[in-house]
Amino acid sequence: MGKNIIIAGAGHGGLTAAYHLSNSGYNVTVYERAAQESELGYEWEDFFDARTFDEAGLPESETGKIPKVPISFYGPNPEHDPIRQTFSNGEVEMHMNRKELYAHLIGLVKEAGVQIVYGCTIYAPILIGSRVVGIKTSLGDFTGDLVIDAAGVDSPLRANLPPYLGIQNTLKQNECVYAYRAYFNRLEGFEDVKNEYKTYLTGDGKTVTTWAVTTEKTVDLLIARFEPFGQDVIDEMYKIFKADNPHLGDQLVLGGQVVKIPLRRPIAVLVADGYAAVGDSACMTVPIAGSGIANSIRAGKILADVIRTDRNEEYSAYTLWKYQVTFFNKIGNSSAMIDMARAFLLSLKKEDLEFFFGNKILTSEDVSFNTNETSAKEMFAHFSPAVILDRLKKVGANRALIRKIGAVAVRIGRLKLVTSRMPDTYSRPAVIKWAQKYEQLFADTSM
Ligand SMILES: Cc1cc2nc3c(=O)[nH]c(=O)nc-3n(C[C@H](O)[C@H](O)[C@H](O)COP(=O)(O)OP(=O)(O)OC[C@H]3O[C@@H](n4cnc5c(N)ncnc54)[C@H](O)[C@@H]3O)c2cc1C
Repeated sequence: MGKNIIIAGAGHGGLTAAYHLSNSGYNVTVYERAAQESELGYEWEDFFDARTFDEAGLPESETGKIPKVPISFYGPNPEHDPIRQTFSNGEVEMHMNRKELYAHLIGLVKEAGVQIVYGCTIYAPILIGSRVVGIKTSLGDFTGDLVIDAAGVDSPLRANLPPYLGIQNTLKQNECVYAYRAYFNRLEGFEDVKNEYKTYLTGDGKTVTTWAVTTEKTVDLLIARFEPFGQDVIDEMYKIFKADNPHLGDQLVLGGQVVKIPLRRPIAVLVADGYAAVGDSACMTVPIAGSGIANSIRAGKILADVIRTDRNEEYSAYTLWKYQVTFFNKIGNSSAMIDMARAFLLSLKKEDLEFFFGNKILTSEDVSFNTNETSAKEMFAHFSPAVILDRLKKVGANRALIRKIGAVAVRIGRLKLVTSRMPDTYSRPAVIKWAQKYEQLFADTSM
């Protein structure tokens, strides 16, 4: 084999791997659908963990680090007080316009000598036997020694791999959300209104997340649902936002499109001979928050490290398996745990949420995790046994809720067992058997 690496799609993890590999002497080419650099990313601003660049061995961006922004969670009943996050002074996170983030990453990979081919739509992988040897694209076929799939949630590579490789081709309906995001103007004359990051928990069975974020000049709206939706839903939700945020104007300033986000644990198998998936193509978002920038970038670094230690340049499922194991130990197992918590949250009906808010069961301290925390340990660090006992006492009167909490605890126990039994080395039958067990845990998460 050799050192020719194809990065399929300019996803964040693919660019991170490209940067490290090119700096280590590999020939790296990115094939990207967007016609030019300026079309990459979105117009809006995203949050992600401030440790990301450092952990991934990337030079820091000069801008973006800001004090952590607290979120206020609003329940379905407007009479109940919201639960507000509080952070101590000095806690920071990254807040970057996605176009600026792309400009930073693209600047780095160009400097490292990576080639980027724009205006190139990838259709499918090229295989010889069970090995991925290249990509079929609108500009012709390209071959390489390894294909890194960084083409996002609808990756045509993952979708068209032969099923016998054990890599999940398609995602289920409730494993992706369709997110509408738009910045509207902020009307003047509402002096009482503060800048606030409001997240609404509706329990309406349709809306997974909604937020209205008021800044100096704009109100940033997000609506995320499991089913695709059109202007009628946006208009209906706008009215609801407007009732609670009278300062919301009707001029669209930025954004305004619907984009798909994976909202589930990482896929069970990330590698095949000549192939590795990273980022949204492998569902690496934090399953509660849908934030995937930090995990994609971290995974890109893990992948590059594993490739660099493959001295015989095999890039087989066997040698790439170390990427899978390291990723799951550092990030994936924790994400799977968070996915269980997501199933619990989604099982909460409007009346359950009203019970939580009305009886003040959760405190500010309980919810003061960063939306981009990638580890279940960090996210739920506050829940010591004493705290859990205290909360259970408060929920005690509500038997249905106690049952749901019990069910999620049992599932988390099973998940821990299954993830601890991931094969150490790659053998396809053993890996496929393990993957089936992992997926089976989530087959029915109704509680
Ligand atoms: C509304 C919204 C808000 C979000 N907010 C946050 C946030 O605050 N924080 C956070 O961490 N994450 C956030 N995310 C999630 C985040 O966008 C992703 O998890 C992150 O971008 C990682 O995905 P990726 O880089 O792997 O893939 P993508 O960002 O999807 O990039 C894939 C790349 O591949 C290219 N591509 C796709 N198909 C093809 C093809 N067939 N041929 C060639 N090229 C192709 C695309 O053009 C794109 O450049 C948000 C997402 C949305 C939609």
